[in-house]
Amino acid sequence: AEKLLEIRKLTTGFITEKGMVKATDQISIAVDKGQTVCLVGESGSGKSVTSLAIMRLIDYAGGMILEGNINFHGQDLAAKTQEEMRVIRGNKIAMIFQDPMSTLNPVFTIGDQIAESLQLHQNKNAKEAAEMAVGLLKLVGIPAPEIRAKQYPHELSGGMSQRVVIAIALACNPELLIADEPTTALDVTVQAQILDLLRKLQAELGMSILLITHDMGVAAEIADRIAVMYAGAIVEEGTVEEIFDHPSHPYTIGLLQSIPGFEGGRGGELYTIKGTIPPIGQLPTGCRFHPRCPHAMEVCSMKEPPDFMITDDHRAACWLFQGKPVQADNKDEVR
Ligand code: SF4
Ligand code: MG
Repeated sequence: AEKLLEIRKLTTGFITEKGMVKATDQISIAVDKGQTVCLVGESGSGKSVTSLAIMRLIDYAGGMILEGNINFHGQDLAAKTQEEMRVIRGNKIAMIFQDPMSTLNPVFTIGDQIAESLQLHQNKNAKEAAEMAVGLLKLVGIPAPEIRAKQYPHELSGGMSQRVVIAIALACNPELLIADEPTTALDVTVQAQILDLLRKLQAELGMSILLITHDMGVAAEIADRIAVMYAGAIVEEGTVEEIFDHPSHPYTIGLLQSIPGFEGGRGGELYTIKGTIPPIGQLPTGCRFHPRCPHAMEVCSMKEPPDFMITDDHRAACWLFQGKPVQADNKDEVR
């Protein structure tokens, strides 16, 4: 399959009172055309920083890219100027966030907001844009779109607002949609509807989706591939089937066991991984998960594990898999 986005060994950091601290550490992820990749982890694992880095909004958040590439269509976004990024952000990559109200402007009707995006990014005139806005509201499953187009954001429920935000994102006809916890603020039923909508839109429009979530249940619903992040690193990555059928990294297993009713879980009782994620800049030595890991061995506190290949298409950074081939990228590094 054709790669749309290929992040290679991306390290990002923030300047703090204690100096530069890494927020992501040599992460690699690929998203093929038409594919959905979920980046899963607890809050503070570096998921959102990764999306900000792809969009290069990290530059405005006090952070920076220290190392690595973000290849999008074979061009390195990490090397672009902000002027070049503005064109890419509006037209090829769109982003939606947890709170739709942070995107919507309270003083304009939702029809006007979608139309504005169409005028800006697709060179439509006002009349065409207004008509297309109604079409987009229909596409995202909003009933009575002509009437809704004339309404203001406060007149919509949370689920409807998130649909409008998706319509605005689609107005720039993106090849990649980055969705950061798009359903977290919604109740479970509405959450399922929004995930259905994203799946439907992807099938119709062929766009790629990078979805960021703390919830393995959400990833199970929508992902083709899952990358599990912990304390700034990807600790396991593979197809959704591999991750659910053969979870390998102890952290992934812990995340899965926290899903109520999951087979590998403890009879459905809610399991939580003991301890907390280390704050950025305070990583333990060796494996970053070792203080919380029920399987930690002597080597784990001393040496950082490389990515071991569980299968050709499934990797885990864990010493339990020593003996499996080391991922090609990791071979000549002492990590
Ligand atoms: Fe646990 Fe060691 Fe694997 Fe880290 S490397 S996850 S501490 S077993
Ligand atoms: Mg986040």
